[in-house]
Amino acid sequence: MILGGKMQVEAVLFDLFDTLLILDDGEAYYTPSLMKLWEFLAKKEVKVSFDEFRQAYFEVTDEFYSESRNSLEEPHFNIRVSETLKRLGYEFNASDPVVSGATMAFAEEFMHYVRLDSDTIDVLQKLSKKYKIGLVSNFAIPECGRKLLEKFDLEKFLDVVIISGEINQRKPSPKIFEKALRSLGVDASKAVFVGDMLDLDVKGPKSVGITAILIERRPIRHVPDAKPDHTIKSLNELLTILEDC
Ligand SMILES: [Mg+2]
Repeated sequence: MILGGKMQVEAVLFDLFDTLLILDDGEAYYTPSLMKLWEFLAKKEVKVSFDEFRQAYFEVTDEFYSESRNSLEEPHFNIRVSETLKRLGYEFNASDPVVSGATMAFAEEFMHYVRLDSDTIDVLQKLSKKYKIGLVSNFAIPECGRKLLEKFDLEKFLDVVIISGEINQRKPSPKIFEKALRSLGVDASKAVFVGDMLDLDVKGPKSVGITAILIERRPIRHVPDAKPDHTIKSLNELLTILEDC
């Protein structure tokens, strides 16, 4: 037991997807959500086939991801949609209502694939009585992230919510974790981070001195230099791990 007794925990920070909320069947949402986005654009006189659209979208998305691997920036999803449209010969800037409408069409469909983990409410209820609770999520559609927190009634447990698309910084950037700690007024040595990804949720928080707990949702692929302080299989194990802190 690494946490028991010795460490004085003041804050517990969580990842969102596949930690507090579960995404059904991994990326099953992707094609149907993209289809809704494309249908929305088709009604706005964007005349390209779904296949053409999808191809341009993934080209743009791949470029964005390879850039953000180094920059650790998180441009809002609207920028991705706007760039995709430009590539197809349509000029809509990222703040155009056509673009934000298309993003929301994607988000609405995406939300159908998201469900609450069966432990989430009980665990947050109990932990929020003892600790400050925070959320740090990588998501390019922050409005949708906040809608999900509202839908599942999680806001009331959360003292801080940081979604990468709102601040153009994504995990594992130290900045996003430092921002969460600053908002809570808690030192890294008194904070615990819980998440499902070794590179984002273990390596990231540990780089600023936060204790990292991996929630093992699937077989773990080794990531160099990412060693969790503790590994759990379900959220309710946190209640035992943090009991003595
Ligand atoms: Mg996750």
